[in-house]
Amino acid sequence: MVPPAALPHVVIVGGGFGGLYAALALADQPVRVTLLDRRNHHLFQPLLYQVAAAALNPSDIATPLRSILRKAANITVLLAEVESVDLANRRLVLDRDEMGYDALILAAGASHSYFGHDEWEIFAPGLKTLEDALEIRRRVLLSYEAAEREHDGAEQRALLTSVVIGGGPTGVELAGALGEISRQTIAHDFRLIDPTEARIVLVEGGSRILQSFPESLARSAADALRRVGVEVRCDAVVTRVTADAVWLGGEQIRARTVLWAAGVAAAPLSRTLGVPLDRAGRVFVERDLSIPGHPEAFAIGDLCSFTADDGHPLPGLAPVALQQGRMAARNVLHHLAGEPTEGFHYRDRGSMATIGRAAAVAVVGRLRLSGLPAWLAWLFVHITFLIGFRNRFLVLFEWAWAYLSWQRGARLITGPWRSRR
Ligand SMILES: Cc1cc2nc3c(=O)[nH]c(=O)nc-3n(C[C@H](O)[C@H](O)[C@H](O)COP(=O)(O)OP(=O)(O)OC[C@H]3O[C@@H](n4cnc5c(N)ncnc54)[C@H](O)[C@@H]3O)c2cc1C
Repeated sequence: MVPPAALPHVVIVGGGFGGLYAALALADQPVRVTLLDRRNHHLFQPLLYQVAAAALNPSDIATPLRSILRKAANITVLLAEVESVDLANRRLVLDRDEMGYDALILAAGASHSYFGHDEWEIFAPGLKTLEDALEIRRRVLLSYEAAEREHDGAEQRALLTSVVIGGGPTGVELAGALGEISRQTIAHDFRLIDPTEARIVLVEGGSRILQSFPESLARSAADALRRVGVEVRCDAVVTRVTADAVWLGGEQIRARTVLWAAGVAAAPLSRTLGVPLDRAGRVFVERDLSIPGHPEAFAIGDLCSFTADDGHPLPGLAPVALQQGRMAARNVLHHLAGEPTEGFHYRDRGSMATIGRAAAVAVVGRLRLSGLPAWLAWLFVHITFLIGFRNRFLVLFEWAWAYLSWQRGARLITGPWRSRR
């Protein structure tokens, strides 16, 4: 059923955590909603590195937006790239046409930042989309295959060396997963090389990894990483990345697999708004998440810069985006009804990161967990939030069982070798 055209038109840009939860909160409300995304699926980014590490398949963590919103008759999903936003005239320029709105929720998320070195991207892909995850999986697996055929010792060592740049949760999880692949998953699958001798280096510019976690948990995480063979290098600033090496000042690490987990910047769409942005390109928003001077337009999630009650900007996390999505939806309805809007307050339920098999660190309220208890907490949270996935319990339990029971390599397949030399 087509929603009546007389209803106010709300446009949501982005079907990630922020945009999707805003849409779900506007289902069956007296508004006509159009959800625009350049991809046709909602992606559960927290499990992306499991796809990169060949532990999960893409379809395990992505669900078509259409099917999630199938029952919401007032919501139309369109596959479209939004090129720019004209806040003054309440219009969006799309890849093929234009669209007007009465209220707007911008939830376009973030992309990678190479700190002014965009030329590194080709050598050091980041992890943000399914394509990124599959590309990382391809590079990692093909490096082992190429090493098995390589006769030159130095080149073979380079093929068996991976560098992960950035010691935040994504870098830690990626490095841990690479460590597990080499030390456990494929440990006995080759004849001419020994995968357990692969070198995996996690490089962090700051004095410690996991800077948003308490120091004791960061230490536990570093120990867990070392147990799966990851070399943790702190106070190490990357100065150059090439096709086969990473440079830390004068030190060269020859590596055929380099992964970027160091910096994020708001989606480029923010730069078309013509409003003040922070250094990462995020839109400063009011307490009610609206864009200053535009009470009908809201920016949420990784795209916005919101100062929390403690005076610090909120981090780019799924629960932040999700809670802001719901609040932006409420405030859209308030705004359209001529009512006062509500201020946003983040309810922090904790943060966590995993380091491979049954190891993790977690902060939940005053509780600080590490090891198996943290990993079980991590598993529980991820099952709870894997929304819209009919088989979510199946996916997580299958994966957890494979993990705990040391089941090996069912998903270690990739495309053909293309030399990057
Ligand atoms: C590898 C990885 C691991 C993570 N792990 C965790 C974790 O363990 N815990 C946690 O809390 N958070 C984690 N995060 C962060 C979390 O995923 C983000 O904070 C969250 O996804 C932000 O939600 P969002 O809605 O703002 O943006 P996204 O979820 O990124 O959604 C943005 C959407 O906008 C669409 N889009 C962008 N630009 C356009 C455009 N111009 N036109 C049309 N569509 C557009 C995109 O296709 C995308 O669907 C992780 C992120 C990554 C990348």
